[in-house]
Amino acid sequence: MSRTIPCATTIAEIRATLGQSRDRGATVGLVPTMGALHEGHLSLIRAARAENDVVVVSIFVNPTQFGPNEDLKHYPRDLAGDRALSAEAGADVIFNPPEEEMYPGTFSTWVEVEGLTDGLCGRSRPGHFRGMCTVVTKLFNICQPDRAYFGEKDAQQLAVIARMARNLDMAVQIVPCPTVREPDGLAMSSRNARLAPEQRAQAPALYEALNAARVLVGAGQRSTAVLDRAMRSILAEASLGEIDYLEIVGADDLVPVPTIAGECLIAMAVRFGPVRLIDNIRVQG
Ligand code: AMP
Repeated sequence: MSRTIPCATTIAEIRATLGQSRDRGATVGLVPTMGALHEGHLSLIRAARAENDVVVVSIFVNPTQFGPNEDLKHYPRDLAGDRALSAEAGADVIFNPPEEEMYPGTFSTWVEVEGLTDGLCGRSRPGHFRGMCTVVTKLFNICQPDRAYFGEKDAQQLAVIARMARNLDMAVQIVPCPTVREPDGLAMSSRNARLAPEQRAQAPALYEALNAARVLVGAGQRSTAVLDRAMRSILAEASLGEIDYLEIVGADDLVPVPTIAGECLIAMAVRFGPVRLIDNIRVQG
């Protein structure tokens, strides 16, 4: 039988729990999630388990990072399942606040990272990163973790959080974790469950296209126009997904590059009906 771990729903409660641990000299690792946990999330929890005395998993579907036409209402939720999986992966406590706890009526303060949030997901999801940075700042202030774990699957999110933590002198180490994939290459995502069977069958096309680009770069191809064409043709052939963006950018500044030089990120978002999937890889020029 799996271990039951406590679930704090108020800021006061989680502060008291983690405060007691910190008073004993324990280190705290935070894994922020929106729940509907899968192996990708669990890999973050295991990484946190290996490096900290106490592991807290926050489960909060953050309304301020969803646009008006996005899938907030349909976002999958399964607190009981998430709690059991978190415990199995080594978490010590869950923080699952209701919306009013995080955003009381008087809420009017936002954290915004400029520049890095202009392109990629930022272009098609205005306000997304402002909401995400604000909630992550709140989670850092509430939990005061020594380390916080984020997946490379959300490459822009990771870059933005790392910049935010540096710029605002937050005393937390941001730890990147590799993308966990299904056996057919599809990056694990809570949103995959919303794909119709034929869409699910086509969804590995994202990673196929990224891998084809990786092979081309390995063979010496440096032109991003050539890589872009190759990836678009794979996506068009293998799926009915609609490309939201497909960009090749510098890994640090996320600015589009004409040629692969230094570390670059190849990132894409593809829509299958209402479900928007993202994926990326890093390549070196
Ligand atoms: P989410 O619940 O989608 O907000 O994700 C919570 C954290 O899990 C974020 O840091 C994500 O980047 C990370 N994550 C989500 N999917 C994966 C995956 N397939 N592999 C690794 N990390 C992931």
